[in-house]
Amino acid sequence: MFNTLSDRLTSVLQNLRGKGRLSDADIDATCREIRVALLEADVALPVVRTFIAKIKERAKGAEVSGALNPAQQVIKIVNEELVGILGGETRRLNLAKNPPTVIMLAGLQGAGKTTLAGKLAKWLRGQGHTPMLVACDLQRPNAVNQLQVVGERAGVPVFAPEPGNGVGNPVDVARRGIEEARRAQHDVVVVDTAGRLGVDAELMKQAKDIRDAVEPEEVLFVVDAMIGQDAVNTAQAFADGVGFTGVVLTKLDGDARGGAALSVREVTGQPILFASNGEKLEDFDVFHPDRMASRILG
Ligand code: GDP
Repeated sequence: MFNTLSDRLTSVLQNLRGKGRLSDADIDATCREIRVALLEADVALPVVRTFIAKIKERAKGAEVSGALNPAQQVIKIVNEELVGILGGETRRLNLAKNPPTVIMLAGLQGAGKTTLAGKLAKWLRGQGHTPMLVACDLQRPNAVNQLQVVGERAGVPVFAPEPGNGVGNPVDVARRGIEEARRAQHDVVVVDTAGRLGVDAELMKQAKDIRDAVEPEEVLFVVDAMIGQDAVNTAQAFADGVGFTGVVLTKLDGDARGGAALSVREVTGQPILFASNGEKLEDFDVFHPDRMASRILG
């Protein structure tokens, strides 16, 4: 995913190696190149600005001491700041004191929500939980069926509106799903919701109504890392319209530039919890900012 960005940054930082001392001019030149590399990778401009300003300040103020030469010191600073924009520490899921924990998924159509519901369910089972999925995407034909298929693959039950009862009301389905989870003693409920191809008021209202009705411990905003700068705008729209507590990046296996996805944490202030990198249920992991930073820096 971040191959191009990774190659660019590695070569910029490589140019510093072998220098015994870094002048302010060396640092300025390096920062200019890092800035271009980040912008070309689609990292949002305000994020790039803050990032570069921090690197510059720290690199110029760095004491040259200890085991690191000046170039290594800059690399260390870039790495630390990259971990910082990605969220620092890994953020764990919030679990309810009184189960079931409710996790609601929100995002545009095609972001990968339904697929993620299956991945999350499988992962939760691996963590010793007894999850249940609730199908509240009643907008897209076949979405309920798709959730039932991923549920079956993940080996978890799916609560869905009964066929023949019309389209149904997603808020009502969400409520009943959680009642059912409580009755059957599932400790985590993952609520899949409808997305649209673009942000619209009706979608936001429906997601907000579901959120208000089920009071989830987590609202996860699911975003396709391949949609470029739109990732930041969409994130902002969901943050304002629904509100979310965490982000899931999907399609990190794609070859797009991906930098916009790197900006989502910084722009919305909400942490990235999980990353999805393929169509199979196991193509999924907890998001580790430090590992992602190392991958980007090569
Ligand atoms: P939803 O509309 O948000 O529920 O999105 P879906 O779960 O239906 O996913 C849309 C498409 O993206 C499907 O074809 C999925 O197989 C695919 N998809 C989901 N997650 C990933 C991923 O991490 N990588 C890749 N390559 N494809 C994915």
